[in-house]
Amino acid sequence: MELYTDIDIQIFVENKIHEIVSSKITPCGNNVLNFRCPICGDSKTDKKKSRGNYYKSSNSYYCYNEGCNAKGFNIIMEFTGDDYYDIKKEFLESIDITVTSKPRERKKIELAPKKDFTGFEIPDEWKELNSEQHRQLEKRLVYDAPFAPKNWKLFYNVEKKRIVIPWYVDGKISYYQERATLKSQTIKYIFPKDSTKTIFNFDMINEDIPYIFLLEGAFDAVFVENGICIGGTTLTPLQLELIQNRYPFHEIIIMLDNQNVDSAAYKHILKKCETSKYRYFLWEKSFKEKDVNQYIINNKGKNPFNAKYIEKNSYFKGKLRLKLTFSL
Ligand SMILES: [Zn+2]
Repeated sequence: MELYTDIDIQIFVENKIHEIVSSKITPCGNNVLNFRCPICGDSKTDKKKSRGNYYKSSNSYYCYNEGCNAKGFNIIMEFTGDDYYDIKKEFLESIDITVTSKPRERKKIELAPKKDFTGFEIPDEWKELNSEQHRQLEKRLVYDAPFAPKNWKLFYNVEKKRIVIPWYVDGKISYYQERATLKSQTIKYIFPKDSTKTIFNFDMINEDIPYIFLLEGAFDAVFVENGICIGGTTLTPLQLELIQNRYPFHEIIIMLDNQNVDSAAYKHILKKCETSKYRYFLWEKSFKEKDVNQYIINNKGKNPFNAKYIEKNSYFKGKLRLKLTFSL
């Protein structure tokens, strides 16, 4: 599901130009608006020169005086000096998507030396999945997941008798988790202790959706656009750094298992009610399943968990406590 289209952005930018530009705006045909360049001010000698052109079809701006140019939201940023986030927020509100938090001012993190995720060799004990393991994954509808990593390859660890779920960053295996295949394995997921947790599904983040949803399970995250997994419920400094460096304007929203079914999730959210700077998603009472994956399995592939729906049901502290305690 798309939250908005390029046309929505174009209309917003065009309207903003009419709001901002103080000189005369002359339409040239259906596609172009011509006006005095607000960036360089056009020629200093001739105040009437209008060399700035906005092209609707490509939502781009070019000025023939000094070659000033920008595209999309950046046009507004260049014209006004406003913060990208504020512009995007105004846009989202104009199409009725509410964004209530602004990411905190971010300290520049020096990545010295640059983090390198290339060094992962596939160990000998990782083998191709056999038909029984494929069947287990098919039962979880994993192969139908719309937001699974591109070229996602799962393995079977013959020594640990677990399914290996690799985590990719920039197309390379950066970390992994291993899922139990036997009833006797009481711990469902294990994580390697000797390397640093990155982020599951990081490569699948869609920049145009201004939220990143942090889910508990990999097999849940692959059914949610911009759903990621961090192998826990608290972001490590490296994970936070990865997100903030690549997606500084995205809001992180935490979506745990169904708090009406899973008491651990309920307790976790209750504890975070006073302190969390993040919004938490709360499951509506009508959901009887423990998590996203189970809901989709029980409902034959029906998937209500789009970004707009999750965002609408996510709350900051204060309201979160109110909603949480009334939902039980
Ligand atoms: Zn200019």
